[in-house]
Amino acid sequence: MVSYKELGLVNTREMFAKAIDGGYAIPAFNFNNMEQLQAIIMAAAETKSPVILQVSKGARAYANQTLLRYMAQGAVEYAKELGWEKPQICLHLDHGDSFETCKSCVDFGFSSVMIDGSSLPYDENVALTKKVVEYAHQFDVTVEAELGVLAGVEDEVSAEESHYTKPEEVVDFVSKTGCDSLAISIGTSHGAYKFKPEQCTLDPQTGRLVPPPLAFDVLEGVEKQLPGFPIVLHGSSSVPQDEVDTINAHGGKLQAAVGIPEEQLRKAAKSAVCKINIDSDSRLAMTAAIRRVFDEKPAEFDPRKYLGPARDNMKKLYIHKIVNVLGSDGKAE
Ligand SMILES: [Zn+2]
Repeated sequence: MVSYKELGLVNTREMFAKAIDGGYAIPAFNFNNMEQLQAIIMAAAETKSPVILQVSKGARAYANQTLLRYMAQGAVEYAKELGWEKPQICLHLDHGDSFETCKSCVDFGFSSVMIDGSSLPYDENVALTKKVVEYAHQFDVTVEAELGVLAGVEDEVSAEESHYTKPEEVVDFVSKTGCDSLAISIGTSHGAYKFKPEQCTLDPQTGRLVPPPLAFDVLEGVEKQLPGFPIVLHGSSSVPQDEVDTINAHGGKLQAAVGIPEEQLRKAAKSAVCKINIDSDSRLAMTAAIRRVFDEKPAEFDPRKYLGPARDNMKKLYIHKIVNVLGSDGKAE
């Protein structure tokens, strides 16, 4: 058993309370490898933004959970070295699929876990979430739950169609489970292909696809039922078209990739939404930089020469999200 407190990590309780009061949101960035982690920590340290390092079940299998724990501990020390005196870094399990996975993360130094019972019948979601909460809270680990189903694919998470969260269910769910935050479905979705072209309209100026707006009425309904309760948005990458263009210009083939417009996320961040998950945008930034090097310098074979530019490009993206979309800069001085 390793406590996250020994690793210098924090849970989400105070982060979220301050974010709701301050009208901003905490970035939750997924990571699988060293360059991504370095980019996240550099961006958070430079902007003094609290940050959630997210690990999916797939990432845990890919990177090894023991190594991940030491990477998170290393991230805290690295942040201090960069001059961030009191780093506020949370290590969070993204989409925990069972009690056992969540327990294993609590026991291994995670400061926060998500139990995703959203695909289960309501009563089973309640029972599973409650069980995870009862275990995690013994160790002061915070728990995110989910109500409503997102469309799209993220690692092993998939759902055929989106079912918005029903505001009339949230009070019952939160009071029965004791969860600390709730992921809701208001039209965001996982991956870089969030909408089918036929769901979008065409912007005649740019020739780009414009996705349908998020269901802010559902978000407002949830806020009215649960005033001040921390709400989470998954699948909130914006799929920057310049990165998609760079990828396609250098041998890639991403067609009709569409994300959530940043102005909608900016609006959400000012509400009770206090955690916004961004994964695909970082994948795109990394891939764009690597493809450019491979295309322009085909003789290059030193991984530092393409992973270095990838890291720079991800850092730039993370800083942009923190400062221009979430507004969390300067909130962890
Ligand atoms: Zn998700």
